[in-house]
Amino acid sequence: MYRIGEEKMIHKCNICKVTLSSQNCFNSNLASRYYICRACMRIRNKTYNVKNKTKIMQSKKRYYHENKTKIDAYSKKRYMDNLKSWEGFIPKKTNCQICSTEIYFNNNDRKKAICFDHKKQSVIKQKPGPTFWLGQHKRTNETELIWKKADFGMLCNKCNSFLPTDKRKEYIKKVVKYVYETEKGKEL
Ligand SMILES: [Zn+2]
Ligand SMILES: [Zn+2]
Repeated sequence: MYRIGEEKMIHKCNICKVTLSSQNCFNSNLASRYYICRACMRIRNKTYNVKNKTKIMQSKKRYYHENKTKIDAYSKKRYMDNLKSWEGFIPKKTNCQICSTEIYFNNNDRKKAICFDHKKQSVIKQKPGPTFWLGQHKRTNETELIWKKADFGMLCNKCNSFLPTDKRKEYIKKVVKYVYETEKGKEL
């Protein structure tokens, strides 16, 4: 077996004929018969990927199917670990900013979960919502900044589902009008 750098072996890339050194050679081990530089290998991989798009996708699908349990368990664990990393930055327990009900972060009881409310257009648009985004992102200095910038309100499930994201001020005006008019009607 010859290693690059051993003077007696000089190899050229089979495709572009450049002289291979340990820097530009794709294989660090030149015992193989096929010599190719990194640049040519990159082009070859790209061409292969484009030509075999369907095949690659199918094999990825097959791989997922065959390893479904393991992959799902892994991504679930990563999701839970990511959520956990946000504990403390996001309070474990707080109160709904509208009705003051106690709500919790990363708690099993979904009915008492903190619902992060989009007060405005936010950089965090990922469906199905901000909590999912937290599960997809580990807490780092950068992700903390993104989260802070999004400036979510913290609401209970009930208040959150009551408030529409779009045109909420107009909606609230209508609610107020409805409630007061109803009261007036009762007085009569
Ligand atoms: Zn080459
Ligand atoms: Zn509430």
